[in-house]
Amino acid sequence: MSISELSSLLKEAETGGLAAIAAARDQAGLGRARAAVLGRKAPLARVRSALSDLDEEQRRELGRRANEVRTRLEGALEQRERAFRAAEESNRWQRERLDVTLPGDEPRLGGLHPLTKTIWEIVDIFSGLGYRVADGPEVELTSYNFDALNFDAQHPSRSEQETYYIGETGEVLLRTHTSPVQMRVMESSEPPVYVVCPGRTYRRDVLDPTHLNSFAQIEGLAVDEGITMADLKGTLQAFARELFGRDLDIRLRPHFFPFTEPSAEMDVLCFVCRGSGCRVCKQEGWIEILGCGMVNVPLLEWAGYDIERYTGFAFGLGAERVAALAHGVPDIRYFYENDLRFLRAFEGVA
Ligand SMILES: [Zn+2]
Repeated sequence: MSISELSSLLKEAETGGLAAIAAARDQAGLGRARAAVLGRKAPLARVRSALSDLDEEQRRELGRRANEVRTRLEGALEQRERAFRAAEESNRWQRERLDVTLPGDEPRLGGLHPLTKTIWEIVDIFSGLGYRVADGPEVELTSYNFDALNFDAQHPSRSEQETYYIGETGEVLLRTHTSPVQMRVMESSEPPVYVVCPGRTYRRDVLDPTHLNSFAQIEGLAVDEGITMADLKGTLQAFARELFGRDLDIRLRPHFFPFTEPSAEMDVLCFVCRGSGCRVCKQEGWIEILGCGMVNVPLLEWAGYDIERYTGFAFGLGAERVAALAHGVPDIRYFYENDLRFLRAFEGVA
């Protein structure tokens, strides 16, 4: 090739090369352009391989210009390369940008178990009346569970068919009620005593819609000077109105418990039919809620209290029964089946 042909080939290498680089639409296109302008078959390479045919002076002159063209082409490639990288980076930021204004996945919050709510509600009512909460062991001594509470030696509750004993001696058992907590409170403190004792209790009952072999009980005890049956009734009336409704009456029916004398069962006027009879009250018009009575004298004596000076009353109820009544639950076993469909029905129920 003549020097003028090589010269125009070099010009073409530059203008064509720059055009090819400018035409690349993406990184891959730029890679193809790079091969086309700097590769072994590119115009620039052909100019370079023809240089050896030229004389010394022309070779130096055209070689210098060829180097300049190569530098310009490489510069253009690098610039485009940088532009593509910057664009890709910015795309990635856009794609992966965290939009903090979008609504998130809301986690499902758990709630308190309906029995826990009922127990807290009852404890709250008595706290408002000045009672404090007392606690005691679930594995209890028979002496506190039965003897101190005036159960005679033949009482059927003491039988192994009724009570879970621990070991062979008959001296240790799973408490059958929370009453031993009251005995422990009286044993360790002087009147006035105003306590509520919520806790788990155990009986060898056959499971059915109204019986469990482990259940939550709440008992209350008040011992002070001059306490009468009227105080008991007034306290329970206030409690029932707070729990079931402002205008519901209660009534006391005579009953027997070893630890109270006289003893009674308390009914509340049916909060569904208000006395006319319905399914909830089994057509009675009244619903049995709890057992109660005046603290039996032998218990006060056991505690070392002055029986001439102090009298008291006590009451006890089952949390499952009250919760079932309050929420229309037909079978108290539902409270222990941990079926979320059942438990979620109580979300937000105070
Ligand atoms: Zn009714």
